[in-house]
Amino acid sequence: MRSHHCSELRESDLGQEVKLIGWVNSARDHGGVIFIDLRDREGLTQCVFRPEENPEIAHLSHTLREEDVVQVTGIVAKRLEGSENEKMATGSIEIVARELRIINKADVLPFQLDKELSNEDIRMKYRYLDLRRPRMSKNIRQRSLITFAARRFLDESGFFEIETPILSNPTPEGARDFLVPSRLNPGKFYALPQAPQQYKQLLMVAGIEKYYQIARCFRDEDLRADRQPEFTQIDLEASFVGQEDIIKLVQGLLGAMFKAGLGVELPQEFPRMTYREAMDVYGSDKPDTRFEMRITDLEDAFGATEFKIFRSILDGGGVVRAINAKGFAGITAGQMNRLNEIAVQAGLPVKNLAFIKLENGEYKSPLWKIFTDDEKANVTSKMDLAEGDIVFFAAGSRESVSTILGRVRSECAVMMGLLKDSTVFNFLWVVDFPLLAHDEENGDWVAVHHPFTRPHPEDLELLEKGDFAKVRAVAYDVVLNGYELGGGSIRIHEKDLQAKMFEVLGVTAEEQQIKFAHILDAFRFGAPPHGGLALGLDRIAMLVAGEDSIREVIAFPKNNKGADLMAQSPCEIGMKELREVYIQSTHKKKVEEKA
Ligand code: ASP
Repeated sequence: MRSHHCSELRESDLGQEVKLIGWVNSARDHGGVIFIDLRDREGLTQCVFRPEENPEIAHLSHTLREEDVVQVTGIVAKRLEGSENEKMATGSIEIVARELRIINKADVLPFQLDKELSNEDIRMKYRYLDLRRPRMSKNIRQRSLITFAARRFLDESGFFEIETPILSNPTPEGARDFLVPSRLNPGKFYALPQAPQQYKQLLMVAGIEKYYQIARCFRDEDLRADRQPEFTQIDLEASFVGQEDIIKLVQGLLGAMFKAGLGVELPQEFPRMTYREAMDVYGSDKPDTRFEMRITDLEDAFGATEFKIFRSILDGGGVVRAINAKGFAGITAGQMNRLNEIAVQAGLPVKNLAFIKLENGEYKSPLWKIFTDDEKANVTSKMDLAEGDIVFFAAGSRESVSTILGRVRSECAVMMGLLKDSTVFNFLWVVDFPLLAHDEENGDWVAVHHPFTRPHPEDLELLEKGDFAKVRAVAYDVVLNGYELGGGSIRIHEKDLQAKMFEVLGVTAEEQQIKFAHILDAFRFGAPPHGGLALGLDRIAMLVAGEDSIREVIAFPKNNKGADLMAQSPCEIGMKELREVYIQSTHKKKVEEKA
């Protein structure tokens, strides 16, 4: 249907007869001469219809509307001097039309393609039109490029691409499962995989050695800008490897993806930070290191304090810490309220954050009067407090102070516009995650990563002794500019250690048999040491595209209620077959039980 695409022709093609096909991007009437910009996914080419050259098709061209699909045959000609368009790749030529075929007319679109739309619902309802916009088509192309780069890199590194089941069993990745009733097994359900974790480990037992998959994963969670109920991971696993091998591999993989997507060279090695340091200094396990505003410990500054609140917290083993938002003393009342709200959500037990600001040589703070001269001097020097600064304090347990100040730090950076126009990519490994976390609500210990993660070899004794809070894991996350791009771990490959881990997590021997017999069994038959990681492809594509939401890099995303407004999914169980499956799988069982 075409001899060239719409971004292909140049002055070197002058005089050639060509055939182009695509959409009418725009049509202009200049005193009876019609100019159209013809668009395909590659770009635009101007076509001109002059009545004196070809009255019949010039007449037809008057009927063209935006988004009609047309085929134009014509001769490549140089544009008239002064009418070249430098912004267009084909801007020095035009096609003098000899033939015009209108392939399919378009109705008036529900929105214009060349304007940004703030109404996301409309965009989603007509997603197939939304995707025609240059920005979206660029995003989709970039995603394809980085996905292909990942495949090529992993293929060249000896990895096999293997698919694992979508209809499977619940997976302990920490979210809720999506369930699918099984018609052939009344009363039973499949769960969609939250991740292919167990299957990929079983592939290691199977001797595959190096596996990857561009894997769709499903998690029934509350949605945010960077979460979707179904999302894509670049999931990988390898045998006979340690943490260093996976880190090195993934640095290369991300390097290949960013090179393909943006043409940038990433550093060969990313800096590393322990989980403890990330939490203490940045108040986050995925720190954004593009700005400083570090959390500073003030135990020394208040070592001798008689200020009751600080004293009792320090005596009780807690911490007093602060951040300095440099130059932000001019914070508005509205911003201050917002920060207080955020701090309360993060666990601040009182309504307002304690602060000191220095404005016009004056210290403004309810605290300042309470501090002794020594404490004032200590705070000033430790926090590098200068004119125009505002320092926020938090006191309490080490964890809660980190969480509160970490959130306040991030929000201040946004309010202060520190990251506006930032083009920096700060990659980082966070290592030595804790293995277990204590669930305060029900008193259980839960896996921080997942139950298959290997305890740090130096901490095995602590695990034996039951000192769970102190046990580190051989687990690592890769972080970019405050986003977790992916995470993984070296796994347990011994049956006894895996059973011990389940026991710590409160999975009884009976439950272990029901839920995990396959993996415990497999570990009896010569399971190799192995480990891996999964990268969030949507998030990477979002950051490569410079977008704020993964919805902008997914062809057909769901909204924040998990709905696809175009296809109107999910649907009610109204269709006959669906109802039947549902009834069979839920009710038959009951009937059987009664019988
Ligand atoms: N299955 C893990 C996850 O989805 C990744 C891994 O451990 O490889 O986070």
